Amino acid sequence: MADPHDTFDDFLPEALRFTSSAPLVDIGANLTHASFAHDLEAVLGRARAANVTTLILTGTDREHAEQAVELARRYPGLHATAGIHPHDASDWNADLEAAMRDLHHLPEVVAVGECGLDFNRNFSTPAEQERAFEAQLGLAAESDKPLFVHERDAGGRMREVLKHWRDDIRDAVVHCFTADRETLHGYLDLDLHIGLTGWLCDERRGHHLRELVGEIPAQRLMVETDCPYLLPRNLPAKLKGRRHEPALLPWIVREIAHWRGETAAELARTTTATARAFFRLPDAATGDPAGPDARQ
Ligand SMILES: [Zn+2]
Repeated sequence: MADPHDTFDDFLPEALRFTSSAPLVDIGANLTHASFAHDLEAVLGRARAANVTTLILTGTDREHAEQAVELARRYPGLHATAGIHPHDASDWNADLEAAMRDLHHLPEVVAVGECGLDFNRNFSTPAEQERAFEAQLGLAAESDKPLFVHERDAGGRMREVLKHWRDDIRDAVVHCFTADRETLHGYLDLDLHIGLTGWLCDERRGHHLRELVGEIPAQRLMVETDCPYLLPRNLPAKLKGRRHEPALLPWIVREIAHWRGETAAELARTTTATARAFFRLPDAATGDPAGPDARQ
């Protein structure tokens, strides 16, 4: 059989054309980012060639969530989240809440978020962030869809808030986890899920994570690129433009598997099973829809 990569383009150098032995789910792909507008079909083609078969497109505000829904309608294997990022929490109002509630009813939307707390940059004040986050926790409880959570430098407060809401929400994933052991175990004690990116591929700042990733139970762990951000720093070849994309997820899986002391194949299988259950995705093997809302 011909190399599946050959049917697409030569954007990725040979050394970056990875293929996962088991299908992967990228739970955090910002494909509505402007940097993907000119070649989205090629990006999706390369993801398929890499066996990254399912992409959860992150909706970080109303406009991007609506765009993510449009893409999920157009392309198989794509799903959307819908939320207001903590950076934009100051925009939160009743109209936005109503628009988000409508989006959460759509079958294309598989999670509430990206939402949460980011006390690193405070583009919105902490009070505004908490208000928007609490409101979205309420929407998650209402819709019974899982939460896609962003947390940076706010682990303590995040745990308090999630503890308060834990019985009301079905599930939550703390995406792009980069915090310390105490925060990790605080989240695991709340029976939350953890999303890992290529952060630990960075020898300058990802070091502490390497020792921690083995402590995450397989049924609580999912993987993501967070593309176009967070291009892994240890890729075996240079990439034009330095834009991260889903086709590179197998490299991250290989790296995480290494630090967990398991095979990439094993990690691919378990993270995909975990993501399918978490987001209640249709069965990949049979194509059977997950529920009555699933599309034909
Ligand atoms: Zn985030």
